[in-house]
Formats: sequence, structure tokens, C-alpha cells
Amino acid sequence: MVKPRLVLVLGDQLSDDLSALRAADKDRDVVVMAEVMAEAEYVPHHPQKIALVLASMRKFAAHLRKDGWTVAYTQLDDTDNAGSIPGELLRRAEGYEADEILYTTPGEWRLIAALEDVPLRMTEHPDDRFLCSREWFAQWAEGRKELRMEWFYREMRRDTGLLMEGDDPAGGQWNYDADNRKPAKGDAAPPKPLTFDPDEVVTDVLDLVDAKFGNNFGTLRPFGYATTRDQALKALDHFITHALPRFGDYQDAMLTGEGTMWHAVISPYLNIGLLDPLEVCQRAEAAYQAGKAPLNAVEGFIRQIIGWREFVRGIYFLEGPDYPTRNALKHARALPPLYWGVETRMACLSQVVAQTRDTAYAHHIQRLMVTGNFALLAGVDPAEVHEWYLSVYADAFEWVEAPNTVGMSQFADGGVVASKPYVSSGNYIAKMSDYCTGCAYDVKAKMGKDACPFNLLYWQFIDRHRERFEGNQRMRMIYRNWDGRDADDRKQILSEAEDCLARLDAGDPV
Ligand SMILES: Cc1cc2nc3c(=O)[nH]c(=O)nc-3n(C[C@H](O)[C@H](O)[C@H](O)COP(=O)(O)OP(=O)(O)OC[C@H]3O[C@@H](n4cnc5c(N)ncnc54)[C@H](O)[C@@H]3O)c2cc1C
Ligand code: SF4
Repeated sequence: MVKPRLVLVLGDQLSDDLSALRAADKDRDVVVMAEVMAEAEYVPHHPQKIALVLASMRKFAAHLRKDGWTVAYTQLDDTDNAGSIPGELLRRAEGYEADEILYTTPGEWRLIAALEDVPLRMTEHPDDRFLCSREWFAQWAEGRKELRMEWFYREMRRDTGLLMEGDDPAGGQWNYDADNRKPAKGDAAPPKPLTFDPDEVVTDVLDLVDAKFGNNFGTLRPFGYATTRDQALKALDHFITHALPRFGDYQDAMLTGEGTMWHAVISPYLNIGLLDPLEVCQRAEAAYQAGKAPLNAVEGFIRQIIGWREFVRGIYFLEGPDYPTRNALKHARALPPLYWGVETRMACLSQVVAQTRDTAYAHHIQRLMVTGNFALLAGVDPAEVHEWYLSVYADAFEWVEAPNTVGMSQFADGGVVASKPYVSSGNYIAKMSDYCTGCAYDVKAKMGKDACPFNLLYWQFIDRHRERFEGNQRMRMIYRNWDGRDADDRKQILSEAEDCLARLDAGDPV
């Protein structure tokens, strides 16, 4: 009899079209899926993230069985659980007398290395659930002085034909971002994303997660994420009908108590394989063609997926396994406890952290310009910032999280992803949100006891990194402004910024 091969399906590989499944034979091979502690514990994941992955895995296994596959599934609390992916593969190989494993390349270097070390015949298949292969990206990047998303994005538009009219972009422009920076008024009523009541499978998983990970940062219930492809498609359609039309206008806006604004909240589904990036973009494009969503919204949305999402993945694999440990600005401060929910007087951080705790979600500008901006201004060790983002969001997987955090948000890669650091004073937050109206600090105060910490730390950042950034074309004006200020004011701002950092270090409320 021909020996079965084992087909590994990881928790973020829940796609029928997975390359390892395509390479396998339903009548001969055995799919291996395993809930293991090594994956659940390598960072203190948000309980909702663990629940999302485990419940989706269980339902995907049931779906594969219904489709005729033999599935060897290990639950987290099974007594013979080997505790790690390599351990489970060895255990199952022994049980099924198999010596070959078919697998799709994992999305992070840590697991890639672990699988390479498994002492069995390991047959790897590239993960082609992306629009751009690792090889294509490497070729595109070769010889370029700078890797900029906008140029990459145009190639992807041409390649996919999305929003193209012949060789030209729909509407005559590639990018409509200039129309997409409107603040939202406090009385705006963003639609709520579609959520799903827990069924029996989800309820079992929630109980398990509560028992094992109840002490991790994050609220487990209410849990409303989709855990099947059908549900994820419903959530996508709901977004396209109710939120996409204004996605562009309010893409950067933030409002107290409104965590999702007009965003899609589909990254968890894309990242674990329940949705396919091209189908998502095609549905958005169809809404534009049907006159149901404007071009600035649809272009902006598609750019996030075929542009940013594919671009950061390309960077992650191009830059290599050391990427998440980079620290170009030599920042060394410990992550302030406020990131784990300890009280802060800063209304913006308090809002975003509380929302993160309750929903395992924050939209891009909340991540970049509130939590990310503050960590960068305060000089927090990027490795700690990276671990935080990897832990607290339901969509956090290293290939996408690390370039966004280490690169875009913390400038720790020295400018591979971003051409200048994403730092701002409180001004930006005041313009794009209503957070400052409920804050103990005064966003207009540049110094003095009520001065917004973002204002103080912004200028201290500019001052302490003069050597690196003064020559940057895009930052010259900022240095000119700083140098043009009264010398005593500069001294006072720097000294108050130091006090603020000292309070952070001492664990005093800021
Ligand atoms: C510090 C930091 C950490 C981040 N960590 C993650 C992460 O762990 N996982 C993750 O998927 N995204 C991450 N992002 C990118 C972005 O914030 C999320 O993709 C987005 O907020 C997801 O919410 P949404 O589905 O409502 O997105 P929308 O705003 O509705 O956008 C639609 C889709 O575009 C894609 N997208 C948008 N922006 C980006 C981006 N910068 N990089 C990659 N894809 C993007 C996502 O798949 C998203 O679902 C991070 C951004 C920052 C600044
Ligand atoms: S005043 Fe400063 S700290 Fe307060 S919400 Fe505004 S930006 Fe945040």
C-alpha cells in the first residue's frame, strides 16, 4: 500500500485553495491540524485572537472532512498533544507511518526555521494566496535605491487590471489620497461591522481560552468575529454596502467610542485565509462600477490591499529573519505600563488602549498616530513595541505586523518602509479626532503643566535625532521651525519633556 503523506495546515492557512492541499491527494493523504501551546504562547496573544484562530481551525477541519479529507486534528487540551507543530508532525508521522510532509511556507521566519529542522521529508509549497510572490518582489526591489509603496502599487494595478481603463488608471489618477483626509464630526454615525453570535464550537473555544489564557491582556467576551469563510464573506458584503462609500473620506478620522469608523475590519479574515485578497478587491471594484461607491473610496481601499498589504509582505521576506530586531534609532525605554491598560491622563491613548483591550482591533491611524507615535516619541525599545502589536490585535501575524511596527511606525529599520518617521505633535490628533476635547491636557499648550505630552515629546524627538534627520528633505522645514523658536522656550520644552519621560520611567501617571 502507498504510504499516506501528511499535509500540514496551520492556523493562518485556512483556505481551500492552499498550495499544500492542492498538491495532496484526498484519497491517500492525511491533513494534520494542531492547536499547540508553542503557538498560543510565543507572545501573550489577546484572548479574542486565540479564540478566532482556534474556532476557525475547528470549523475548517470540519469543512475539510465534509469535503472528503481525512483530518488528524489535535485540540489544545488533548492529553497526547505534543505541544508544538514539529512535535505534532512527528507524533502523527509515527501514528500514520508517514515519512513525508507537504506544507505551505509559513508566514514567519520562526516557523519556517522550525519546519526546516523536522527530521522527515519536508516538501514545501510557496504560499500563493498573495498577489505578489516573494521572487517577483525581490526582482522588483533589485537595484532600486529606495523601495516605495506607490511605485509597487502601480505595478500591482497594472498586473491585476483592478481599476484600470486600458493602460491608464480609472479616473486618470493612480491615487486619490488627497481627498481622503477628512476629520469626522462628533455627531457622525459610522456603521457597525457585522458580528456573529457564538455557536456551540465558538462557545467551547471561548471556555477553553478563558480557562487557559484568561490572564492575558484583553477582554474575551463579547466575541463577534466571523469564524468561517461564509461568515467572513457576509462581513465583507456588509462593509461594502454600509461603509465602503465613505471609507475614503474618513479613512484617517477617529472618534471617541467609535473604534471601527468606516473601516472594513476584515484583516483577521484575510490573514487567516478565510478571504482572498483579489476577491475582496474585485467586490469593491464592482461596487464602484455599479455606482455604489465613489472612486476615492474604492481606490483607497484597494490600495491598502494590493499596495500596502503585499508591499509589507515583500519587505518582510526580503529583509530577512533579523528584521523584527532592528533598532536604527537605538531606542531603549521599556514599554510604559499604560499600553497594558494602566490608567493614563492622555485621552487619546486611554481610548485606543481600552478599545484594543475590548475588541482586539484598532484602525490604522489609531495604531500609527496614537499608540505608535507615542512609543516612537518616547523612545521605546522597538522590540517591545513589536511584541505589543503582535500580541494585542486579532489580525497580528509577523509578516504583516513587523514591517508596519518596526518599519512604518517605529522607523527602526532605518527607512526601508518609510521615508521619514511618522511622528507628530498633538496637533494631528486634535485635527483628526475628538479625543482632545475630553483630555486632562491642553493640546494647544506647547509647554507648562497642562501641555500635551505629544507636544513636548515631539520637539524632544526632533532635537535628539537632529543628526539623523536634519538632512532629510522632508524634515528640513521642521528643523527650521525648531531652530527659529526662542532659546528659552526650547530649553523649557526639552526640560519638561525630560520630566515627562522620567515620570513614565518611574511608573507615575502621565
Ligand atoms: C503599528 C502597526 C501595526 C500593524 N499591525 C498589523 C497587523 O498585525 N496585521 C495587519 O493585518 N495589519 C496591521 N497593520 C495595518 C493596518 O493597521 C491594519 O491592516 C488595519 O487596521 C486592519 O483593519 P481593517 O481590516 O479595518 O482595515 P481597512 O482600513 O479597512 O483596510 C482594508 C485592508 O487593507 C489591508 N491594510 C490596510 N493597511 C495596511 C497596512 N499598513 N499593511 C498591511 N495591510 C494593510 C488590511 O488587510 C485591511 O484589512 C498595522 C499598522 C500599524 C501602524
Ligand atoms: S491633548 Fe494630547 S494627550 Fe490629550 S488627547 Fe489630545 S493629543 Fe492626546
